[in-house]
Amino acid sequence: MFPSRRKAAQLPWEDGRSRLIPSGLPRKCSVFHLFVGCLLLGFLSLLWLQLSCSGDVAWAARGQGQEAPGPSRACPPEPPREHWEEDESWGPHRLAVLVPFRERFEELLVFVPHMHHFLSKKKIQHHIYVLNQVDHFRFNRAALINAGFLESGNSTDYIAMHDVDLLPLNEELDYGFPEAGPFHVASPELHPLYHYKTYVGGILLLSKQHYQLCNGMSNRFWGWGREDDEFYRRIKGAGLQLFRPSGITTGYKTFRHLHDPAWRKRDQKRIAAQKQEQFKVDREGGLSTVKYRVDSRTALSVGGAPCTVLNILLDCDKAATPWCTFS
Ligand code: UDP
Ligand code: MN
Repeated sequence: MFPSRRKAAQLPWEDGRSRLIPSGLPRKCSVFHLFVGCLLLGFLSLLWLQLSCSGDVAWAARGQGQEAPGPSRACPPEPPREHWEEDESWGPHRLAVLVPFRERFEELLVFVPHMHHFLSKKKIQHHIYVLNQVDHFRFNRAALINAGFLESGNSTDYIAMHDVDLLPLNEELDYGFPEAGPFHVASPELHPLYHYKTYVGGILLLSKQHYQLCNGMSNRFWGWGREDDEFYRRIKGAGLQLFRPSGITTGYKTFRHLHDPAWRKRDQKRIAAQKQEQFKVDREGGLSTVKYRVDSRTALSVGGAPCTVLNILLDCDKAATPWCTFS
């Protein structure tokens, strides 16, 4: 076993003699004063714990966000500690892999073990969050990522918005902390399907700080597509520089896209005003306005690889985005 790196500190009253008042303290400092002091300290640490939950800090700091009802207000539980947390060669950062999800079970069975092994081999501390949309509205990839961001807790300091059907095959791909700006792993030069210059979909890494600076993603995109193009404009609007991989020689074979479009049909329907609205930048909404509830949270192991499934009920403002329903 490893020798403990922590040395037990000896406190003044642990010298073998039991005393109520440490000798260093003035006589006026009675047991009562000490008791009141402890109470105050306990209260302050509880207050700190409450405020330090990512979601709550975000709400409190903005002071304008609509509160997410129900359990999502509570401090999200942290994922269990992993073996790497004692090993400094893994570096100080920890990645939250945010996977927007609905009815892609077969893909998930491949994705979770693949990503866990891929990232572990690269010594990237990580936890995978499967953001399972369980309401009956149309799929909303961006709102799920906003919800996943708020639920991912304080132990992670950067995110990957990651499609469940896109598997990185080349181990040279960088998944490290994107200090300088958003890092688009699934670059148009490497993605098997999308090759336009402003594409930022598929897999995008951002520090939590930069994601907040963009106010997250817009919640107005229901159905397939365009939310990533709108996010490109948010990145630019926030004055951030976008980075992409360099020196990768595997071209369009860099990723495996587990997607048969005849089987996994894209919901490309455009209802009424959605035709025009899909091209607009959403200047008000985003991380600060996402409305959702976490129905349940399940720790899962897929072929030995850990992940957390969040069953998420999104809310839709039907006056603002009437195209969120199927009919
Ligand atoms: N997705 C999902 N269920 C759906 C639609 C989308 O889980 O019904 C998620 C999944 O992570 C998927 C991503 O959203 O990889 C992007 O959707 P899709 O693969 O349909 O788009 P593509 O990038 O292939 O055009
Ligand atoms: Mn796909």
